[in-house]
Amino acid sequence: MMRRKLVAGNWKMHGSRHFVEETLRAIVAETEMLESVDLAVCPTLVHLPLAESLLKGTRISLGAQNVHDQAEGAYTGEVSAPMLAEYAVTFVIVGHSERRQLFSESDKTVADKFMAVQAAGMKPVLCLGESLQQREQGVTSEVVLAQLDAVIDQVGASAFDHAVVAYEPIWAIGTGRTATPEQAQEVHAAIRQHLAGRDREVAERCRILYGGSVNPANADELFAQPDIDGGLVGGASLKAADFASISQSAS
Ligand code: PEP
Repeated sequence: MMRRKLVAGNWKMHGSRHFVEETLRAIVAETEMLESVDLAVCPTLVHLPLAESLLKGTRISLGAQNVHDQAEGAYTGEVSAPMLAEYAVTFVIVGHSERRQLFSESDKTVADKFMAVQAAGMKPVLCLGESLQQREQGVTSEVVLAQLDAVIDQVGASAFDHAVVAYEPIWAIGTGRTATPEQAQEVHAAIRQHLAGRDREVAERCRILYGGSVNPANADELFAQPDIDGGLVGGASLKAADFASISQSAS
């Protein structure tokens, strides 16, 4: 089956109003002709309203980087899924390794957030990935599939018809050390096979993105792998020309 590829930029805690305006205008202009790939940009929460207005009427979807699992309440400093949905947000990243590591998010929290995003009509981008130590210990697939199971057990496999998975080896994030296409493909195939064990059709349809130092030089090879359906791009997505070039590789 031909899955339409998706390239999503994760801007993390970067940018300013000026940067958002300049970069989104450039990305829109430079990706206009790429009709066979889905594109998304995930700016910070405060930049969502500005990004929403700049992306209106373009082919680029808006994404958020985080969300709280409750719809409302006394959770000072948090933002809920229904609030994001009011800003034309299509995708919400959940379980990014920075959230798991720096903000102590558990598998349970990630599953709760996944559910909250879908309940508000948006698509979670569920990040999975092993540490360098776990890779060296040879437990990569156990770790990644356990993270996946934590969500499947709570929401069921059919929920992945309205979700995206992102395999992001922690040792490859922001390090310039990309997984080789073979290393990435191996894990992507394991994720798809595992999902297929629960629901074969959903597994065939579900997009599995690779993330971890994707750049214009390595995107072609990564996206040529049969189970890599696009990329979740950090650092390189902050440069319009690089993001456009990576998007071109997926088209
Ligand atoms: C990410 O944080 O999702 C990511 C893939 O970052 P980078 O591309 O900078 O490695």
